[in-house]
Amino acid sequence: MGKALIIGAGGVASVVVHKCCQNSDVFDDICIASRTKSKCDALKDKLGGGKTKISTARVNADNTDELIALIREYKPDIVINVALPYQDLSIMDACLETRVSYVDTANYEPPDTAKFEYKWQWAYRERFEKAGITALLGSGFDPGVTGVFCAYAQKHYFDEINYIDILDCNGGDHGYPFATNFNPEINIREVSANGSYWENGKFIETKPMEIKRTYNFDGVGERDMYLLHHEELESLGINIKGIKRIRFFMTFGESYLTHLKCLENVGMTSIKPIDFEGRQIVPLQFLKAVLPDPATLGARTVGKTNIGCIFRGKKDGKARTYYVYNVCDHRECYKEVGSQAVSYTTGVPAMIGAMMIMTGKWNRAGVYNIEEFDPDPFMDALNKWGLPWKENFNPVLVD
Ligand code: NDP
Repeated sequence: MGKALIIGAGGVASVVVHKCCQNSDVFDDICIASRTKSKCDALKDKLGGGKTKISTARVNADNTDELIALIREYKPDIVINVALPYQDLSIMDACLETRVSYVDTANYEPPDTAKFEYKWQWAYRERFEKAGITALLGSGFDPGVTGVFCAYAQKHYFDEINYIDILDCNGGDHGYPFATNFNPEINIREVSANGSYWENGKFIETKPMEIKRTYNFDGVGERDMYLLHHEELESLGINIKGIKRIRFFMTFGESYLTHLKCLENVGMTSIKPIDFEGRQIVPLQFLKAVLPDPATLGARTVGKTNIGCIFRGKKDGKARTYYVYNVCDHRECYKEVGSQAVSYTTGVPAMIGAMMIMTGKWNRAGVYNIEEFDPDPFMDALNKWGLPWKENFNPVLVD
């Protein structure tokens, strides 16, 4: 039994709050703290009155002193960061100062450059170790469950894994010509960046959407998918034994890509500030303000997601392939927690990661990526908390 401070009150945070309340044996007290307190209060109004005690607070998570004051007042056992990647370091600083463990779902990004690297957070390793607290990096689905899948494959099925393809398919339809399934600013920064894959110890860069494949996904059907850079490639490249190549593919529909291209061409996806009527605005932040809020997509999204990893490697000297994945239904998620599957598949693992640390199942001081821990209790928890996984030992491979 313990106390969790949940920072952020958006699409993913809403799922984390629901799941913590369902898991009141572990989370008997939570505080939801975010920039807009009314969103925290709305979650409390919806879910309060159950076994988990809920309080709310306003906090600017860019401000470490404000965070320290809140942590000292609330005294959580863990901080779950489901605000934005820009806040990772200020929240880690506050956790260090107050000696409280930390979990997030996305690597730190400097606001003025779209960089997806762990170097800033890995620089905290020694300080977290000395403070005797844990930072669990990337406990969403990808990064997150994909890393747990890799650790599980490595532990149970392979002596060495040579190739990993991470396939992220969202077969959902929200009926809008263009909308993003999680924070639009973060999503568009990610998909409009150059692609890259990890091969023989280094990243090979590609143009955005340069590499395309088609795959027939269980529960969804055939979809076009495109190679993207994704942050977990960096840590998996180091943590998986014998790895030669890791690629990450995400599916996109024609309408999404056509709109994105057009928005890029007119400069709306730029993160460089421009002068507008006497003040500076960032085009991408303005675009975010006019796009549908991902937290509102749940009610109108139908279809399924399918996210997983295909492995190729060796066991007892013989070649082996293995595919492990989760299929998640948007409507079912909405029925359960009022959110679409992209928020759901991120929020459930964030709750599970926090649970692993709070219950002492994962107990190592320092800063770790998720694949560095024992995957077994996390895999069991996925089946229990709404993200059951399937295995296939003879999958169709991606060329
Ligand atoms: P939303 O935009 O819906 O929510 C973000 C929340 O953070 C909002 O409540 C926002 O407040 C709050 N926030 C932003 N800045 C601050 C600040 N300075 N201080 C306090 N609160 C702040 O985003 P999502 O819920 O879609 O995404 C949350 C996180 O999950 C992101 O980091 C995203 O990258 C990550 N993610 C990870 C995935 C994975 O699989 N690993 C997949 C999808 C998302 P306000 O309401 O005032 O704007």
